[in-house]
Amino acid sequence: MGETMRVRFWGVRGSIPCPGAHTVAYGGNTPCIEVRLTSTDRLVIIDAGSGIRDLGLRLMSHDLPKGPIHTEIFLTHTHWDHIMGFPFFTPIYIPGTELRVYGPATYEDETLGQVVGGQLTYRYFPVRQSELASRIEYIDLKEERLDLGDGIRVSTKYLNHPVLCLGYRIEAAGKVLCTAYDTEPFQNVFCTDPDDPTYDEAMAVEGDLVAREENERISDFYRGADLLIHDAQYTQKEYQASKRGWGHSPMEHAVLSAVESGVKRLALFHHEPVRTDGEMDALEDQFCGALEKGDAEVFFAREGMEVEL
Ligand SMILES: [Zn+2]
Ligand SMILES: [Zn+2]
Repeated sequence: MGETMRVRFWGVRGSIPCPGAHTVAYGGNTPCIEVRLTSTDRLVIIDAGSGIRDLGLRLMSHDLPKGPIHTEIFLTHTHWDHIMGFPFFTPIYIPGTELRVYGPATYEDETLGQVVGGQLTYRYFPVRQSELASRIEYIDLKEERLDLGDGIRVSTKYLNHPVLCLGYRIEAAGKVLCTAYDTEPFQNVFCTDPDDPTYDEAMAVEGDLVAREENERISDFYRGADLLIHDAQYTQKEYQASKRGWGHSPMEHAVLSAVESGVKRLALFHHEPVRTDGEMDALEDQFCGALEKGDAEVFFAREGMEVEL
């Protein structure tokens, strides 16, 4: 039997968990994605948002009986919605568990271990990192390529977010999974209004070129992916009205960019916490209806959803 990559969403919301009657269908947990390689049963986790708590319970009942849990966790960045579930990931309390936690550290004087493991101090939590029974190794990441063995290769790319944030490209079993969140399109940083007294035509043209190149650098990173998981926190209207510079993408940008890059399937992700199930359904219909035959298949990621590549 050929090897396949299986992706399961344990948390799909941005910013803060939002459980409740209006988010039952799409889910209220913050980002956590499980990636399994079927033939070797290798497990890779992306992000440790509140969704990792349920994944931890699943590993305890399904994986632990077969042997100690060894896994890599790739953090896109250290904003709280992407690391808040870590202290509630039960395997960290189990002897024999071995974790390698990778991610970008934004400030030189604070390592990844201090930022993520620093949640486990009495100030915030009743257990200290030094009391954990598992072995945890933290690895600071930049833009680079890694070989995880068993034919699994990972490469990283800086995105456009207020802190260092990495997109991941995971290649295994002839399949490609990419993530591009949290991020927003690069914009021209110079004035583009000819009526503005600070307008300089040469600067405006240069700014356009730089923004276009930066955006192309990211779309090249996920070109041809079998599945792209992309930031889609806002609609274009919301983004233009008041959300520029917050580090999140309009859905329209995610869809256009994925289609242009020949992505096969696009999971819109990092949903706005106030968006209700009904609103999400309507937006999904709107985007899927607008696509041509042969374009990427577009859907909103839901908690509990499993996608086989
Ligand atoms: Zn986030
Ligand atoms: Zn963020």
